[in-house]
Amino acid sequence: MNKESARGSPPALFVSDLHLDASRPDAIRDFVAFLRGPARSASALYVLGDLFDAWLGDEQLREALPASISQEFAALAASGVPVYIQQGNRDFLLGKRFASASGATLLPDVVVHDLHGTPTLIMHGDLLCTDDVDYQRFRAFTRSAGPQRVWNALPYAWRRNLAQRLRARSRDATAVKLPSIMDVNAAAVEGAMRQNKVTRLIHGHTHRPACHRLNFDGKHAERWVLGDWYARGSYLEVAADGIRAHPLGGDEAPHRTPPG
Ligand code: MN
Repeated sequence: MNKESARGSPPALFVSDLHLDASRPDAIRDFVAFLRGPARSASALYVLGDLFDAWLGDEQLREALPASISQEFAALAASGVPVYIQQGNRDFLLGKRFASASGATLLPDVVVHDLHGTPTLIMHGDLLCTDDVDYQRFRAFTRSAGPQRVWNALPYAWRRNLAQRLRARSRDATAVKLPSIMDVNAAAVEGAMRQNKVTRLIHGHTHRPACHRLNFDGKHAERWVLGDWYARGSYLEVAADGIRAHPLGGDEAPHRTPPG
């Protein structure tokens, strides 16, 4: 792509960690307004995981909230905006059925997209939290084929019940972990960027929105972290002339929430 066409192409928009749940109607309303508003003039929409607070499998499309969100995505995609979705740690069972109902493309956990001429590493971010050994062990187990087959064979109502109990246990475990353990590991960040030959990374998961400037291998690099949608929503605009964070409406000051 030459410079002229790069300048002319609209920004790509990034969101993550919406943790949509029927118990938080404000976040749902703001996200639908975002999909019908700013997202319509984007070159693409990227949802980098934890769109839903819990995902038991694509049968969850039978519930009202996922069904309506998937319709909103489909309308956006039909308007000509590609929708890319990555799985988070809460909705890692989000699958092909949800993606196809949403007119969306499911991205792998680690992927590089060229944005206005800059190769950009795109991840949910949990893979970078390598100091949390217990979580990485749990992650490896739940992402393997055997356990997923067993899980998917359970009746939907059982899965819902089990998920609630697992979530309560995870909340207890998270409450006693040091905040530093639940943030990214610097060596893991550098390793991922080096391996994928990029100097720009965008991820979510930690709920610590920021832009971190890095230096490694004699190169300048940047790591952009997306915010969550608990107190208020936000999105990242990746334009040809730079990256900007956009908080959405709401007078409430953003507050810290537990990662994950
Ligand atoms: Mn997460």
